[in-house]
Amino acid sequence: MVIARVALNVPLDKLFDYEASDAQPDDIGCRAEVPFGRRHMVGVIVELASGTDLPSDKLRPIRRILRDTPPLPADWRALVLACSRYYQHPLGETLAVALPPALRRAEAVPKPNADPLFRITEAGTEARTRLRPGSLASRSLSFLVERGPVRASALKAALPKAAAALRHLSAKGLIETATPAASPAAAQAPVALPEQSAAVEAISGSLGRYQTFLLHGVTGSGKTEVYLVAIERALARASQALMLVPEIALTPQLENRVRTRFPGARIACLHSGMAEGARAGGFIAAANGELDIVLGTRLAVFTPLPRLGLIVVDEEQDPSFKQQDGIRYCARDVAVLRAQQAAVPIVLGSATPSLETFQHARSGRYRLLELPRRALAKSLPSVRCIDTRNAKLQEGLSEPLLAALESTLRRAEQSLIFLNRRGYAPVLACPACGWVSGCEHCSANMVLHLADRVLRCHHCGAQSGVPASCPTCGNQDIHPYGRGTQRVESALRERFPTARVLRVDRDSASTPGKSQALLESIHRGEVDVLVGTQILAKGHDFPRLTLVGVLNADASLHAVDFRAPERLFAQLMQVGGRSGRADLEGEVLIQTEHPDHPLYTALAGHDYHGFATAQLAERQQAGFPPFMFHAILRAEASQLARSLEFLQTAAALGGQLGQAAVTIYDPVPMRLTRRARVERAQLLVESPQRPRLQSFLRAWIAQIYAQRAPAGVRWSIDVDPHEF
Ligand code: ADP
Ligand code: ZN
Ligand code: ZN
Repeated sequence: MVIARVALNVPLDKLFDYEASDAQPDDIGCRAEVPFGRRHMVGVIVELASGTDLPSDKLRPIRRILRDTPPLPADWRALVLACSRYYQHPLGETLAVALPPALRRAEAVPKPNADPLFRITEAGTEARTRLRPGSLASRSLSFLVERGPVRASALKAALPKAAAALRHLSAKGLIETATPAASPAAAQAPVALPEQSAAVEAISGSLGRYQTFLLHGVTGSGKTEVYLVAIERALARASQALMLVPEIALTPQLENRVRTRFPGARIACLHSGMAEGARAGGFIAAANGELDIVLGTRLAVFTPLPRLGLIVVDEEQDPSFKQQDGIRYCARDVAVLRAQQAAVPIVLGSATPSLETFQHARSGRYRLLELPRRALAKSLPSVRCIDTRNAKLQEGLSEPLLAALESTLRRAEQSLIFLNRRGYAPVLACPACGWVSGCEHCSANMVLHLADRVLRCHHCGAQSGVPASCPTCGNQDIHPYGRGTQRVESALRERFPTARVLRVDRDSASTPGKSQALLESIHRGEVDVLVGTQILAKGHDFPRLTLVGVLNADASLHAVDFRAPERLFAQLMQVGGRSGRADLEGEVLIQTEHPDHPLYTALAGHDYHGFATAQLAERQQAGFPPFMFHAILRAEASQLARSLEFLQTAAALGGQLGQAAVTIYDPVPMRLTRRARVERAQLLVESPQRPRLQSFLRAWIAQIYAQRAPAGVRWSIDVDPHEF
């Protein structure tokens, strides 16, 4: 009897046995359709066995093995299995996350779109001289002459509307399809700066073995250029390259830059916003070894790549690499794991590396590569604080900022007003002396819960009443931090009636089409003043943008989350990096009530090292990551007491395991306790040693599964949580 052991997308940490008389060893890794209860489900065959513990009346036959797509390769399964173990998530559910949606169903997957390679014919070479210069046909032929054999997609990236020209030219016999070379050639790169060459040599010297690099370079220092040359070296060895970027940074500009650099390469761009068929097609083409480069967001880390040679993670500190529901994986960390398993180098790039990564570089586990200056622009923008403690603000805008806006408008350059919205949790603050509502027991701030009029610490659960006046200076005018920012746009319009003001936020840029249109109008210079949130911070290059004004940044200084300063620093560096990218000088003005705060001083000095070193010292002292490893068990139910009770029981189970060097804290209500009518609570577990935490979690979570949660209680585990 042949038994197929199948991983299914259900919240149970086990495999399911089915009778599969026709299954062959080659079917391991194939998807299969199986009966499950009264319905059918698609799962993945993980093992074949000759027997089962199931009683024979419970054993059901497999419905069919889905052999229309290739079996998922062993190294890919090993990666998914490692993730399932590390993040304490059932294998079947982890596989379902790693597969594109179309492959989670039994229907046949459409063939991926072909991306033919074209070259110019002799007739084309002759005809080129007769074509009207500047016509689409002439420019297309010139591109083929300059770049050699070119993919249709690369031509379309370089020349919009080229699709029609391609059809026309090939019908006339001026171009023809070519057979791909073993390794696609790259277009000419700019002459590398010495630091760039050193970085590229270090990375390409590691091709063929595992090594993590931290490429630390200010915005515009030429990091992307380094990635591209390193990718070129990997392709030259007939390897595949995987490049991960944050959600927001995956712009058509970046995609075009990669396609035009590698005009002959087979490139897939994978992200969650794309059509399911195209995503599945890219996945399968990659698995078949038919792709050279995969460029994508978080989910692309799970693309099967049989000839993987290099991984790049750009903006490695970006929060969007962490999945915030289901299996809470961090794609950057999974990418490092993958590089280890595949024995390939990985480059983590950033202007403001995460403290986790920076600490690894300091300790020598990662190799640090630095690009200390900008490649094109003469200098970094100047960063200055505007002290708003005694200034009169008009809708949150200070006089010096308004004056700077005015003179930027006069020079016909662009400005950006940046509203920081992240990390805002109401903490009490005193504007007179700078006191904030800190917790006695933790280096964290207490959160103001207005409904029950208490201050509460989300780390240890400590609670206290709301003081009527500042405990330090007696000032009675203490208030929750944060200021309304909705009216900034209209205030700007009122103040500068002739300026073209554009607001870019989740509403106005809600679809890729809308945000593309907005970006194009900015590039065409149709906007004078941009108002926006972090959407604008990344990946864009606006040559005429010279002034960046930052409002309400202070909210993050007082946030409860110990990662808030790190994020604020990264965000302000990034948004500041938007200014003065080309030959114009850039200026960044930060409105703050704490102009002498070390975070702003470090920012003004472009001193990432100083900032990171100070933060790491604080984290070490306080016993926070990266010197401590965290996991959070969360529970939700219709009543808070039930969530807490479940966690209480779980904590007791954990306590009985008696794992040394692991601390289990008391359950506390979550900061946002009630959400969508459920009451949520959480429990923090920590250890200074990752392996100890891991072995504790393995035993503990297995017990929690075995115990079964009471009806109406849902729980989840978050390993290496980013948010509390
Ligand atoms: P980053 O990724 O660090 O922001 P990029 O690689 O995008 O930097 O480079 C910033 C700008 O400088 C781009 O316009 C790029 O084409 C240009 N650039 C990068 N390296 C060089 C170089 N060695 N010579 C000339 N221009 C360069
Ligand atoms: Zn005070
Ligand atoms: Zn506390």
